[in-house]
Amino acid sequence: MTNLSQVSDSEQRVLIVGAGFSGAVLARQLAELANIKSLVIDSREHIAGNCHTERDAETGIMIHRYGPHIFHTNRADVWDYVNRFGDFRPFVNRVKATIDQGVFSLPVNLHTINQFFGTNLSPAEAREFIEQKADTSITEPANFEEQALKFIGRELYEAFFQGYTKKQWGCDPRELPAAILSRLPVRFSYDDNYYNSSFQGIPAEGYTEVVAKILSHPNIEVRLNTRYEHDMAKSFDHVFYTGPLDGYFDHRLGRLSYRTVFWEEKRATGDFQGVAVMNYPNPEVPYTRIHEHKHFTPWEKHEATQAFVEYSKETGPDDIPYYPKRLPADKELLAAYIELAKAEHKVSFLGRLATYRYLDMHQVIGEAMDFVERWLSAKENGEAL
Ligand code: FAD
Ligand code: UDP
Repeated sequence: MTNLSQVSDSEQRVLIVGAGFSGAVLARQLAELANIKSLVIDSREHIAGNCHTERDAETGIMIHRYGPHIFHTNRADVWDYVNRFGDFRPFVNRVKATIDQGVFSLPVNLHTINQFFGTNLSPAEAREFIEQKADTSITEPANFEEQALKFIGRELYEAFFQGYTKKQWGCDPRELPAAILSRLPVRFSYDDNYYNSSFQGIPAEGYTEVVAKILSHPNIEVRLNTRYEHDMAKSFDHVFYTGPLDGYFDHRLGRLSYRTVFWEEKRATGDFQGVAVMNYPNPEVPYTRIHEHKHFTPWEKHEATQAFVEYSKETGPDDIPYYPKRLPADKELLAAYIELAKAEHKVSFLGRLATYRYLDMHQVIGEAMDFVERWLSAKENGEAL
């Protein structure tokens, strides 16, 4: 049994589980908008959750410890918010993909199309060409593969998406939601920006410093290496939980499926691959992509380099859950957990893990900002949320 009343000051009113972007923004907004005090706990030894960055002690390169993170959003209020806490430098993610035929540009754009088909098409010609390859019989894509066949046709799908997706998700793309692919644009111009967002960047001193600044407020206390236990709740007016939803209920209905990723690190001097992210869609290559971290901070100069070769596997009980799979069986289980969650009147569930959705940083930040406003207004009106 953990007695948090021994460690918490009697004025602390809410407990926030998780010191990632969701938990940090919740704590800051509650502090600034309503002068509410919070204790933020995290089971890990650092803040910032999966966005954690740190400089390598030997090379000084900023490492994205849990995978590369590029900030991008269309919401001006979210962009203004993060810029209060960090010096975001312009960064455009220009991803490349190595397949048997050579190195190509992603997302699929006019360069990819002309290079892959050996053509010299104009934007209008390329659009017509791809429309002819697309499967027009698919009106409402029911899964990842149908989404691809409807928008880019079989050749591009098989070359760039089928093998990568099988490796990344460990199942047939026909089992996966179409929404996973709709994250990526298809363009009939030479614009090779991986994202369509109006605002994009990477913080000069990494994400952990941004989260540290968000958490730096007299109303916020942070306690690391502290795992949530249910008896902690009784010392607080409310709990905001941003860990895995099934974990909160001790997996009593079963486990939601997640993919986890792991990396093999390569150290070298000079330039390892000439780009921040190189994808490997070929199913015979065992890894999915390689990140070379110093290319995420092009404003810095480093002689040494560190590249992380990324592999994907099914999540075991001790692995960090990274990607919610959202297979049909997961959705049924999720619905059952949501029913249990509704009965937890003193607990709110937010963030990528607690809502079991494939959310990016800007989305969890925006949702935390919006949620605090709704929660405060409901509280003021004596309503439940
Ligand atoms: P998390 O960051 O997962 O934080 C949750 C925290 O809760 C963790 O620190 C965890 O330790 C803690 N916790 C969990 N359970 C407990 C418990 N029982 N007790 C105490 N603490 C607990 N987004 C982008 O915008 N751009 C990108 O380029 C991008 N790249 C990504 C690459 C990878 C490989 C992955 C996996 C994700 C990527 N994302 C990206 C998504 C981004 O990581 C998430 O949107 C973000 O981390 C979600 O923040 P969160 O606070 O909801 O969750
Ligand atoms: N994808 C693919 N080939 C690629 C890149 C992406 O098949 O070269 C698919 C894959 O299923 C992936 C999804 O598109 O999970 C979304 O890609 P994104 O780069 O957004 O994934 P993330 O950065 O979140 O891992």
